[in-house]
Amino acid sequence: MDLDTPLEQIFTKLQQRQKNALKNLDLKTVEDLLWHFPYRYENPADLKRISEVIMGNSVRIWGRVQKIDYEKTWKKKMNIAYATVEDPTGRIKMVWFRQPYIAKMLPVGSCAIFSGKIAVRKPARRAGGDEYYIANPLYDIVPCNVVPAFSKEDSSRLQPLYSSSAGLSSLWIAKAIARIFPLVKADEFLPEKILEKYHLPVLQTALRWIHAPKTEDHASAAKKRFAFEKVFLMQLMRASQKEEIKKTAGIKFSNIEKLRDEFLGLLPFKLTTAQKKAINDIVSDFKSGHPMNRLLEGDVGSGKTAVAACAAFIAAKNSAQATYMAPTEILARQHFETFSKALGKAGIKVGLLTSSFSEKFPSKVFAGTPTHVSRSQLLKWVREGEFPILIGTHALIEKKVEFKNLALAMVDEQHRFGVTQRSKLSNKNAAKEGSRDPLGSRGPKLPHFLSMTATPIPRTLALTIYADLDLSVIDEMPAGRKSIETKIVPPKDRNIAYEFIRRRVAEGEQAFVICPRIEPQEAELPGEVRLPDGKSDFLKAEMKSVKEEYKKLNENIFPELEIALMHGKLTPKEKEETMKRFRENKAKILVSTSVVEVGVDVPNATIMMIEGAERFGLAQLHQFRGRVGRSEKKSYCFIFPSSYSADIFKRLRALTETKSGFQLAEYDLEFRGAGELSGRRQSGLSDIGMEALKNLKMVEAARFEAREIIENKTLEKYPLLEAKIKELRSEPLHFE
Ligand code: ADP
Ligand code: MG
Repeated sequence: MDLDTPLEQIFTKLQQRQKNALKNLDLKTVEDLLWHFPYRYENPADLKRISEVIMGNSVRIWGRVQKIDYEKTWKKKMNIAYATVEDPTGRIKMVWFRQPYIAKMLPVGSCAIFSGKIAVRKPARRAGGDEYYIANPLYDIVPCNVVPAFSKEDSSRLQPLYSSSAGLSSLWIAKAIARIFPLVKADEFLPEKILEKYHLPVLQTALRWIHAPKTEDHASAAKKRFAFEKVFLMQLMRASQKEEIKKTAGIKFSNIEKLRDEFLGLLPFKLTTAQKKAINDIVSDFKSGHPMNRLLEGDVGSGKTAVAACAAFIAAKNSAQATYMAPTEILARQHFETFSKALGKAGIKVGLLTSSFSEKFPSKVFAGTPTHVSRSQLLKWVREGEFPILIGTHALIEKKVEFKNLALAMVDEQHRFGVTQRSKLSNKNAAKEGSRDPLGSRGPKLPHFLSMTATPIPRTLALTIYADLDLSVIDEMPAGRKSIETKIVPPKDRNIAYEFIRRRVAEGEQAFVICPRIEPQEAELPGEVRLPDGKSDFLKAEMKSVKEEYKKLNENIFPELEIALMHGKLTPKEKEETMKRFRENKAKILVSTSVVEVGVDVPNATIMMIEGAERFGLAQLHQFRGRVGRSEKKSYCFIFPSSYSADIFKRLRALTETKSGFQLAEYDLEFRGAGELSGRRQSGLSDIGMEALKNLKMVEAARFEAREIIENKTLEKYPLLEAKIKELRSEPLHFE
């Protein structure tokens, strides 16, 4: 048996259910199973008796399911499942929202370890005292015949708990691993000196410790090793990609500096020093003879678009093509306007392509004046090289889109895209010469690549997943910007905020109102509140929706003003109309979901009001706030939480206290955990890898070691490691 042996070859008597479950969990081979790590360990000694639980505490209890009830709310048809669970000392209720399959998973009579936070409910209609319950508890099914001992003396080893799937319990997985573990040998691929230097257990030991630790220390030493391994491999892979790009010939431009200066003359403002520096980084990339592979990081409003436009200008004036991909349609349209305005003066044609443009609904181009053309016409022009600049959404990476000579690919808000999407954009030249992965890079025609982000990425994440990119940071705001006054507004002051908006609007300014939802939620329901830390709570919270807020503001609060409504479900045409009304200052208030989170630029808007603010991450709130403060006028951000707790308050206060998006991203990492971070989706890092990112020291150590190997060209000294890196690189999807 080796690591590649399929599990079905070893476990020959699997039932169909179990096979399905293995598939669900993505477990195919021995290796997959051995690398399916427990998400936590259970120490039988810290179970609580039901009679001992205390309101507000996070507990784990053992219990037998005594009864299951369902309730369906009439309006939304939301399922609520109630289970009564008992142990020898008492009974308690469990409540699940939207989990109609609970009775299947936890039939009456089954036993499980439940964990969650103890809350109290005052029964509304019935008489009687308070009732304890746990909302959305996690549960691990355990055999009923082993009633756990509740005393410390009886505690034996730590029990691993694995994420399981219907048909395959955590216990089954534990047993399966115990069975195959003695039969396979996992070869160490990390250099010995690294293991020694950082006191990491060797692979075989780490595997044993992670699955069957005798002590907490063993488990954490094993976790540390795997975390280090993840981060190290990722960095090594990225660094070797970077090394390879440095060996590739890039597309050449001429007159680069002259064109840059010409471009500066087209702008209505003077660039900041930081913008100039970023442009000069790009200029030297263009001159380096190798493809550019650069990340432009700048806080919201720092002026990244102008930098991108300069790069596009240089490409266009070299009779080459440039493309610019944005994550939303609103943003693509906005960039189209900006580019048309700035580059149109120099006679450069700009096209816009979004997926909502069907054959009938024409695409838009700018060649002196904005015109509508059919999509196929535009695509033909692009293929023939007639259009030097094409701006769009994901539609740009569709098969049909081909360029004649794409020399510059740019991605805005790049954390919104996956690695594959980004690499597809660089592969859009019509002349096919085999596949050219911009990261793996073969062939001579790899376009220059520039990606942009305003989402501040914690340093550890940046060092790891963007290790292949060169970085330019715009750390300076355009002159004259006033800082944005940020306030957490208590419910009683809501009307003061509305009056404030009324006065500002009277002076010609505009406001955004952001809500977390599109549709209203039924009012009488005690809402399930998913707190930003991923836990849920059973609070009575109103969840503001744009539709309700829009109605309220339009009819009751500001009947005299034009209010606009924006959310993801509007048709593209409606969205365009709405943004146009707002941009032209006809609509004074834009009530919107988070679709305006990225990029939207309406400098005349000076007030950002955020409802249900605790539902958003700090980095995201900071993005919202960045929609205002884009002119010399003083701007305000009003934060309205819909529920209150010390944690919520502490988190939101960070927003009032710091202006640095970067710092806020670090807070997010601290408060919400790595799982919530933007960049996670594209990073391909597992849970353990993401947790590792909380540890700057470890990330820096891994980076140091990866660089040593690349710079000293010693990778080939470690054949197993080299093979591992090759394997990772050949599976780009692995990293989605
Ligand atoms: P972001 O970095 O968030 O993408 P934008 O490129 O949208 O920022 O720029 C924000 C606003 O600032 C735009 O209205 C833009 O025209 C303006 N702007 C950009 N650079 C400058 C500058 N150097 N001086 C004055 N205004 C600028
Ligand atoms: Mg932008």
